[in-house]
Amino acid sequence: MTAPVSRRQIVTAPPCVFDHPEFDAHEQVVFGHDEATGLSTIIAVHSTALGPALGGCRMWAYPNPGEALTDALRLSRGMTYKNALAGLDLGGGKAVILADPRRDKTQALLAAFGGQVDRLAGSYITAEDVGISDADMEVVATRTAHVRGIRATGLGDPSPYTALGVFRGIQAALAHRFGSDDPAGRTVTVQGLGHVGMDVARRLHEAGARLTVADIHQPAVERAVAAFGAKSVAADRAHAAEADVFVPCALGAGLNDETIPELGAPIVAGAANNQLAEERHDAALRKRGVLYAPDYAINAGGVISVALGEPGVGDAAIRAKVEAIGDTLARIFRIADESDQPTQAVADRLAMERLAAL
Ligand code: NAD
Repeated sequence: MTAPVSRRQIVTAPPCVFDHPEFDAHEQVVFGHDEATGLSTIIAVHSTALGPALGGCRMWAYPNPGEALTDALRLSRGMTYKNALAGLDLGGGKAVILADPRRDKTQALLAAFGGQVDRLAGSYITAEDVGISDADMEVVATRTAHVRGIRATGLGDPSPYTALGVFRGIQAALAHRFGSDDPAGRTVTVQGLGHVGMDVARRLHEAGARLTVADIHQPAVERAVAAFGAKSVAADRAHAAEADVFVPCALGAGLNDETIPELGAPIVAGAANNQLAEERHDAALRKRGVLYAPDYAINAGGVISVALGEPGVGDAAIRAKVEAIGDTLARIFRIADESDQPTQAVADRLAMERLAAL
């Protein structure tokens, strides 16, 4: 008679970070916990090949720790590509704090996070991201020097630099698609009128574009309508509005199986992170004849200002580097056409070439 199989034998081993589908040879993944403050954090350092890994800290009420790990792994890898393509001598990393920013954020928790960052001795440099403000980062900075983008170490709010880069990116896309980079008379739909979207809308309005705007926050829509003479569209239909350019500046995954067939513009060029729901949507956009400005290429203005900004020093050099995002995108669009490749695949290749050249 065979012995009964014990419960211990049939339970499969718990998944490990090395088996995670988003694990991509990350150099370090740190799980930090602080009993006293309730801090749970994951800091993922994807690559330090070009320099210390710079990437924001996101505070989010993840439904479970697995999703937090997925986010940390994916976002940190994205930062390696973004920093490499932006020409920064910085690697890629990202931190997530598993907590609700509206309910759980305390000074003690933020300071404890600073302590976790400090233990990494500068291989990871943190900054603000979703759920974390400049003021929060000031608290983090009480426990570590490895913080960028606060008033003590930089220029403060990166959003205006992100908006400048997005505006130049839109111009590069217009030039590629229509032969002129002039937004005057062009129709543009801006989805998401927050820190970045509102500033992009202002720039486009001042350049003579005709705007349609959308946001789930009605007061923001009303402000844009009043200030820019914009038309408005329901937030969940913004992608389908007929226009020359669609500018997503809200949340990620907006380009997916449902929205791509409905896109009302031949150009998608906006600030939102992780716009493609899945990697394959890059090719789906090209197949549909839509010119897509890869998100991490067009929205790099913020990280450039965070990385290079010095308090009390003029920002002319930083603005020049942010404006060069237009040139980078023009190059990506050209290579994509020459090689018949989707644009994000081209951006990835250019970033990887920089890493491979080390
Ligand atoms: P924000 O929070 O200030 O603004 C986001 C806006 O989008 C808000 O007004 C919100 O109401 C709106 N929104 C949310 N869901 C929406 C929906 N379904 N439809 C329409 N509107 C919706 O954020 P932000 O700093 O302006 O950043 C916007 C995007 O750009 C984010 O994806 C962010 O990750 C990315 N990004 C921002 C920066 C930066 O410097 N702030 C840098 C790089 C990338």
